[in-house]
Amino acid sequence: MVTYASRITSLPPYLFAEVDRAKQQKIREGVDVVDLGVGDPDTPTPDYVIESLCKAVRKPETHQYPSYSGSNVFRDAAAQWCAERFGVKLDPATEVITLIGSKEGIAHIPLAFVNPGDYTLCPNPAYPVYGIGTTLADGTPYDMPLRAENGFKPDLSAIPKEIVKKAKMLFVNYPNNPTAAIADKQYYREVVDFGRDNGIVVVSDNAYSEIAYDGYRAPSLLEIPGAMECAVEFHSLSKTSNMTGWRIGFVAGNRDIVAGLGKVKMNVDSGAFLAVQLAGIEALNRSKEFLPGLNRMYQARRDALCAGLKAMGLDVTPPKATFYVWAPVPAKYTSIEYAKYLLDSAGVVGTPGVGFGKYGEGYIRFSLTSPIERIRIAVERMRHL
Ligand SMILES: *Cc1c(COP(=O)(O)O)cnc(C)c1O
Repeated sequence: MVTYASRITSLPPYLFAEVDRAKQQKIREGVDVVDLGVGDPDTPTPDYVIESLCKAVRKPETHQYPSYSGSNVFRDAAAQWCAERFGVKLDPATEVITLIGSKEGIAHIPLAFVNPGDYTLCPNPAYPVYGIGTTLADGTPYDMPLRAENGFKPDLSAIPKEIVKKAKMLFVNYPNNPTAAIADKQYYREVVDFGRDNGIVVVSDNAYSEIAYDGYRAPSLLEIPGAMECAVEFHSLSKTSNMTGWRIGFVAGNRDIVAGLGKVKMNVDSGAFLAVQLAGIEALNRSKEFLPGLNRMYQARRDALCAGLKAMGLDVTPPKATFYVWAPVPAKYTSIEYAKYLLDSAGVVGTPGVGFGKYGEGYIRFSLTSPIERIRIAVERMRHL
């Protein structure tokens, strides 16, 4: 028998593994399951990125250990992209590092700033990695509830003073997974002021910055004056260029915070595969031509799903960004009961909101990463319940 460390045993079961088990069971029973559970782009990586990888991988110099903090050319391209997209000027040598997917960086950053007993301020419901990374660093996540009445944004003034004093890090994520909420610069100003006033490292997870509809353009937290003193922002090519399997992203912002994460990474991994970084440059440089079509596709799916959910009597707001729809479940169900009900009676997988944290109770998340024909089938089956 092995004995696991408490930091492992105290982790909750990874949500998607649970959902997947229920889904696999239905498939074994012969059900044609429509999976609107996991958010993972279903359309391929653009051809120009694939071509670029093929070229890069033939160069033997890409086969060796890459540089720890990322290749200079990838970091230049990331800085250039941030300058063009957000008007944020970065020194690629000190204010950007390449990540093996942004999840890797998000999971590792608490190790650089959190001592045992320290708090991190984590939204709830949320992408689970903020809290998990904290727990793995022997810190304690403090839940900031995301409530509909606050536009699913943490009320920073509601955090008790004694928690703020012991907090080392604050996570924000807009456009948001799972609620699909967005944040404006006014809110980011509050976040930056809070971070600076309290000496708290602000971490913005902007994985969905480019997935947006109806003309909406998400801002970067780094655009806010003072952000470069206290904040970093995580970006990912996963959602913006259909590259979830490639594992490539970057962190940008305050040089000391970036250096802290860099020091952890230098001792844990040996950097992202250089050929993937070179292909990632192509993805960044050509995202402007790729994204309009991608977003049109998701928007059509969003409209089909939201119309269907409304017809079922669910009170949904079509999201301005992300590829998720966050829908309140009928009052007589918990979110898990409702997800089970949809799976059993319609063969549709949605993710129960409570899987993202206790304040996600009462909601279910549907993702738009299935073909519109599948979404129409789901809607048709759910409408007849
Ligand atoms: C998908 C996602 C990420 C990015 O993951 P990668 O590791 O870059 O693939 C980060 N944050 C949130 C909230 C996400 O949903």
